[in-house]
Amino acid sequence: MAYKYVLLFKEGNGSMKELLGGKGANLAEMTRLGMPVPQGFTVTTEACTRYYDDGKKISEDIEKEIYGALAQIEEINGKKFGDAENPLLVSVRSGARASMPGMMDTILNLGLNDEVAAGLIKGNNDPKFERFVYDSYRRFIQMFSDVVMEISKKTFEVIIDELKEKKGIKNDIDLDVNDMKELVKSFKAYYKEKKGVDFPVDPKEQLMDAVKAVFRSWDNPRANVYRRMNDIPYSWGTAVNVQPMVFGNLNENSGTGVAFTRDPATGEKALFGEYLINAQGEDVVAGVRTPNKISQLQNDMPEVYTQFVEIANNLENHYKDMQDMEFTIENGKLYMLQTRNGKRTAAAALKIAVDLVDEGMITQDEAVLRVEPKQLDSLLHPQFDAKALKAAKVIGEGLAASPGAACGKVVFTAEDAKAWAEKGEKLVLVRLETSPEDIEGMVAAEGILTVRGGMTSHAAVVARGMGTCCVSGCGDIVMHSEQKYFELSGKKYNEGDYISLDGSTGKIYGEAVPTVEASISGDFGRFMGWADSKRVLKVRTNADNPRDTAQGVRFGAEGIGLCRTEHMFFEGTRIKAMREMIVARDVESRKKALAKILPYQQNDFEEMYRVLEGRPMTVRFLDPPLHEFLPSKPEEIKEIADELGMTIEALKEVIDSLHEFNPMMGHRGCRLAVSYPEIAEMQTTAIIKAAIAVNKEHPEYNIVPEIMIPLVGEIKELKFVKNFVVATADKIIAQAGVKLDYKVGTMIEIPRAALTADEIAKEAEFFSFGTNDLTQMTFGFSRDDAGAFLGSYYDNKIFESDPFAKLDQTGVGRLVKMAVELGKSTRPDIKLGICGEHGGDPSSIEFCHLIGLDYVSCSPFRVPIARLAAAQAQIKNPREK
Ligand code: PEP
Ligand code: MG
Repeated sequence: MAYKYVLLFKEGNGSMKELLGGKGANLAEMTRLGMPVPQGFTVTTEACTRYYDDGKKISEDIEKEIYGALAQIEEINGKKFGDAENPLLVSVRSGARASMPGMMDTILNLGLNDEVAAGLIKGNNDPKFERFVYDSYRRFIQMFSDVVMEISKKTFEVIIDELKEKKGIKNDIDLDVNDMKELVKSFKAYYKEKKGVDFPVDPKEQLMDAVKAVFRSWDNPRANVYRRMNDIPYSWGTAVNVQPMVFGNLNENSGTGVAFTRDPATGEKALFGEYLINAQGEDVVAGVRTPNKISQLQNDMPEVYTQFVEIANNLENHYKDMQDMEFTIENGKLYMLQTRNGKRTAAAALKIAVDLVDEGMITQDEAVLRVEPKQLDSLLHPQFDAKALKAAKVIGEGLAASPGAACGKVVFTAEDAKAWAEKGEKLVLVRLETSPEDIEGMVAAEGILTVRGGMTSHAAVVARGMGTCCVSGCGDIVMHSEQKYFELSGKKYNEGDYISLDGSTGKIYGEAVPTVEASISGDFGRFMGWADSKRVLKVRTNADNPRDTAQGVRFGAEGIGLCRTEHMFFEGTRIKAMREMIVARDVESRKKALAKILPYQQNDFEEMYRVLEGRPMTVRFLDPPLHEFLPSKPEEIKEIADELGMTIEALKEVIDSLHEFNPMMGHRGCRLAVSYPEIAEMQTTAIIKAAIAVNKEHPEYNIVPEIMIPLVGEIKELKFVKNFVVATADKIIAQAGVKLDYKVGTMIEIPRAALTADEIAKEAEFFSFGTNDLTQMTFGFSRDDAGAFLGSYYDNKIFESDPFAKLDQTGVGRLVKMAVELGKSTRPDIKLGICGEHGGDPSSIEFCHLIGLDYVSCSPFRVPIARLAAAQAQIKNPREK
């Protein structure tokens, strides 16, 4: 009989992951391949979805199907569930489409009760066997209580320890059959005390409770966090696998283990794994007994070993990928309980992909699809020593804003960071939030920790740009920066104390965890070569200084997609000239100040053009609200007033006049250039002169400057600013007596620009989508403050991911797509790119590929990720080159 919500293993196959989950599909596939799999059934992911649709209930029809399938596996296995004579015991395990830590995993020995235990023993007088039965029984009560009823496992361990103490023994192994019986009794009594009802004796009730527990665990907080981090949709649901038990703890001729067909840490081709004789699955992971290396099985059970090696090889050849397998040996007979494509480090992933191509198992395209783009990241940053990290204590958690590992002494100001670094100290800069003024301190620090701010906060964006580790938005920190300490998890951390940050997980450690330099093996280059030969999307980098530019180029950037010029104005003497420009009350004095800035700006561009060696660079005009450049502290105000020869009051007045209630929607972007065209003239002059100078040194570079005007929403704004650009540029080019092409384009980062992109394209030779602002303005919430409420949006399933990190394709994406089409309708050869944070996010990159952008631009350390994501997008959905 065919069911709708339940499938026997023999009815499925490996391609049915969506319906059966990964574990279920692979058990079905192994069954199909004739491998020794205890024959059970899978309750499908659709049953899980129904469970939630029906108000967290298993409906009668699904219950019926489960019992029907149970009857069939009773028949196949010749045993009966709950039968005292010949009982069937099962394991119940979750299995989503993608393996998901954080969910309920396994209950073993389900189906046991007093009668069944007594029945099992009947006819077998070996006292060891009786002990085994009661040992299994007490384990079952423990696991069931823990995962189904949420009674912590630890409390049961306490009961075991008490018994051992009473008897004066050290190891569980020394507990005899009577002890096990006593444990069963006390466990059940404890269960009743906690839950107010008896431990369920009806195996069918046990089974249904366990199935529900698996479904429930799909929605627990840990699973939700994991899903968000790994782009797994909530709608997928999980399947449940019910499988007859085989016993690795039956006797000395039994055992259990896990093995990989290749080393998951290095990728080396050799069977890798461990096993324990006379043990159940949990013993291997629990670490109570030290498992043996898999190779030793060759001596312990040579025939089983040979069979296992053969199965492992067949599985790898079949799946054409490294397999992670679980097996159990019951009384000398081998059973396969699971196989899946094994999780692996980035280095192993690359080696395995490259080796499989060399072994003729997969094509280069398949290899390119095998490596998770985000995984590459760990190869590009320093890493924690894995052992030391495991032993270290987590004191708090923030957003994993910029990956990498950082360990250093706490400092609270950018100046201290700079000064301490000059003395050779390694340090972590801890700030309430960062601002552009902190830049030098941020460069000097190993890592940055902030109390406020989301994934696109200043700290996060700048840190990612520099490839510096950053954990942002750790709201649990209580800051006392004036007194130079902070409090977290009830402890005080003073200036100079060591802390460590893991920018890949957001975890904070209250001690020095040693780091090791990440190494890039030779496979990396070869692999990326295959990816590059595939992709049609170009990959540029966001950089605003020669150092980041060089880093981006080393990582394969094909140019700069966004040079944020404001970042160039914060250092040393430039900030003075900048402030002078801002407080100027008339055009003449503003022009005077701008004239001081010009040489710095031109020099920066020249250096960057040199590093780029002919690769293109899009330079964006000044964008942020001007008050960001002004001082706020009284002593700073005094210093600057003195410097500018103004009274403190006069300077304060200027600062007050620049105050805006909503600066993100205020006097910024092209609005600055509309009010003060001389700024646009100065920036144009710097860019054009720099290009002429470097072209003169290196005619082969043939630089074509790309000038980008930000925050345009109306064609006339663009035209107004562009007129100044063209007039200035043409004049300089004529004066220099050279030939120089240049392009003027705009950012599309205001919804109105997207909606009128056909108009805008009349003036713009290129569009670059600024999806940070576009997301902010489309949703209507601030990119800097969204962290305050996104948590409740996740909890209530309104959002599954951060729209500032992963492009909202439905809304913001629709605007982008519309602008692409409108822009092309006016100017078919318009160049299209993206330079918002989404330009480094794999799923957003896939979207950019699909809608026909020419390039993505992202921070230097994300360039390899973007290259790989772009290649994968092309392999999955080929587009004309
Ligand atoms: C954007 O808005 O997406 C963008 C790239 O500009 P910024 O982040 O500098 O506002
Ligand atoms: Mg912007």
